[in-house]
Amino acid sequence: MARYTGPVCRLCRREGTKLYIKGERCYSPKCAFEHRPDPPGPRSRFRKKPTAYGLQLREKQKARRIYGVLEKQFRAYYRKATRIRGISGEILLQLLERRLDNTVFRMGLGSSRAEARQLVRHGHFTVNGRRVDIPSFQVRVGSEIAVHQASRNVPRFKELAGVGGQRGVPQWLEVNHEEMKGRVVRLPQREDVDAPLQEHLIIELYSR
Ligand code: SF4
Repeated sequence: MARYTGPVCRLCRREGTKLYIKGERCYSPKCAFEHRPDPPGPRSRFRKKPTAYGLQLREKQKARRIYGVLEKQFRAYYRKATRIRGISGEILLQLLERRLDNTVFRMGLGSSRAEARQLVRHGHFTVNGRRVDIPSFQVRVGSEIAVHQASRNVPRFKELAGVGGQRGVPQWLEVNHEEMKGRVVRLPQREDVDAPLQEHLIIELYSR
């Protein structure tokens, strides 16, 4: 399963905003973006005004990087979103939000989407009582996501469950941090997405 393995703080500098990829470090004074918010690369401060295409491209890259999805899979989400009735941009975000790794992160059982992804890959979570280790697994209304019985004593989960609610749980989820489990009560709506994204630019890019 492919994923980006290069320097991640550089991605925040490229997108000109904090993407919160590193978890706890992102909320600390050690965050690289706080010290050096300019884009990476030589003479980056003197670059020209971006074109319409440039803006659309950056928005798409930002979304991919926030959710940790590579290009091929991201395009597949776009295609799926356009086949579903509704506003394609909002459906695209909904598909991204419904990924199991994102859901675990939003439940507070991962300090970042990257950590949540790794915990899912290591088989620490169940969906409706069955172990699921696929980060892209799509949760549905009524899905019950829980830390696997055998993993409940893992110190990291105790730590995460203790601070899990601090980031705030979105309204489409109901979470019991003590029992390390949660449920999808409704599909995520646009207002539930806290990522700074202009999804219409992504749709415009792919519709070219
Ligand atoms: Fe981005 Fe987090 Fe690195 Fe800060 S610490 S630059 S928010 S990944």
